[in-house]
Amino acid sequence: MSRVHLDHNATTRIRPEAREALIEALDRQQGNASSVHAAGRAARAMLDEARERVAGALAVLEDEVIFTSGGTESNNLALHGVLRRAGGAARLVTTAVEHAAVLAPAEDLASDGHGITRVGVNAEGRVDLDEVFEAASAADTALVSVMAANNEVGTCVNVAALADKLEGLAPAARPLLHTDAVQVLGKRPLDIQALRANLVSLSAHKVGGPIGCGVLIRRMGTHLRPLQFGGGQEADLRPGTENLPAIVAGSVAIELAVEEQEAFAERARTQVQALWRGIRDGVTGSRVLGPGLDDPWRLPNTLNVQVEGVDGRAWVTRLDLEGLEASAGSACASGSLEPSHVLMAMGLSRDAARAGLRLSTGRTTSDEDIHMAVDIVRRTATSARKS
Ligand code: PLP
Repeated sequence: MSRVHLDHNATTRIRPEAREALIEALDRQQGNASSVHAAGRAARAMLDEARERVAGALAVLEDEVIFTSGGTESNNLALHGVLRRAGGAARLVTTAVEHAAVLAPAEDLASDGHGITRVGVNAEGRVDLDEVFEAASAADTALVSVMAANNEVGTCVNVAALADKLEGLAPAARPLLHTDAVQVLGKRPLDIQALRANLVSLSAHKVGGPIGCGVLIRRMGTHLRPLQFGGGQEADLRPGTENLPAIVAGSVAIELAVEEQEAFAERARTQVQALWRGIRDGVTGSRVLGPGLDDPWRLPNTLNVQVEGVDGRAWVTRLDLEGLEASAGSACASGSLEPSHVLMAMGLSRDAARAGLRLSTGRTTSDEDIHMAVDIVRRTATSARKS
């Protein structure tokens, strides 16, 4: 049975160029990038080249690129790094719909006495930037962390507009700004200069890189306390011998994702529209959650559909049996019985929040995949509703 993967927001297959770079780096690397001998210097050159590639693709300085193990670590380093450095009860302002990789470190910081403000969202998952600004204006706020795009419903945030507002505060009272842009990379234009966030989290495996390579962009003059202490790698902020093959391959994937972003977005938009039309016409009581498909502030590849009376988790299992890989929410939440915190924050009841189905397209998604997916969703919707 041929299978259709429409869960690319969770992860996506490694792309051939990244796979080739990974294997070549595994074969080539003999030394530790911190060693002074020839093998060490060769490893260092590979690391420098990877950093240069990421910096070039994102138009930032090489010193602004910190390699981590993934988006989760980048987020943890940003949040803990700023708040622990600020010390005392310094406050974090964030939103109710962030990924667990922000919400969980926020909880941890709260348990250590830091103030946390979680700003709510409207029915489309949109955060009111004035409300964020108001919370950020509290004198004890050290960091504002707002995701650039939501992984479950695809709602995007105008981070640059938020940066504008924060720039209205006196420099001494201005908190740092972090954005989790893991889902934006390769899907929407990512102009780090224009965003004016101090810290930006990215993850290579979401764009065809290997799992195990993330990036935290730390703009010049942004100071962090590291999470780990050791050998001084990554400007002392992420010590430990670098995962060089993953970094090399991840840098290739990031560069290509940026290059191909416009073409990908165009194709994804068309495919998601076809997917939605097919579902809408074949499944009564279905509706799109999040912004409308024509909304400019939404991810082009993400479709979160709610079908009245369906249990999303049971449906995902049924879809899997029929050959369609989808998600009932975020991958991390889909193993639990808890309804999606994102959908609940958007005002859905617990039952309604369990009736969501997330479909996300990727680089390898074909039009044939979309036809097959529509067919499987239509065939299974009735039984999913009954069970
Ligand atoms: N942030 C967002 C918005 C995500 O979608 C994800 C992954 O699902 C992460 C962070 C975590 O990234 P990683 O899997 O690389 O740790």
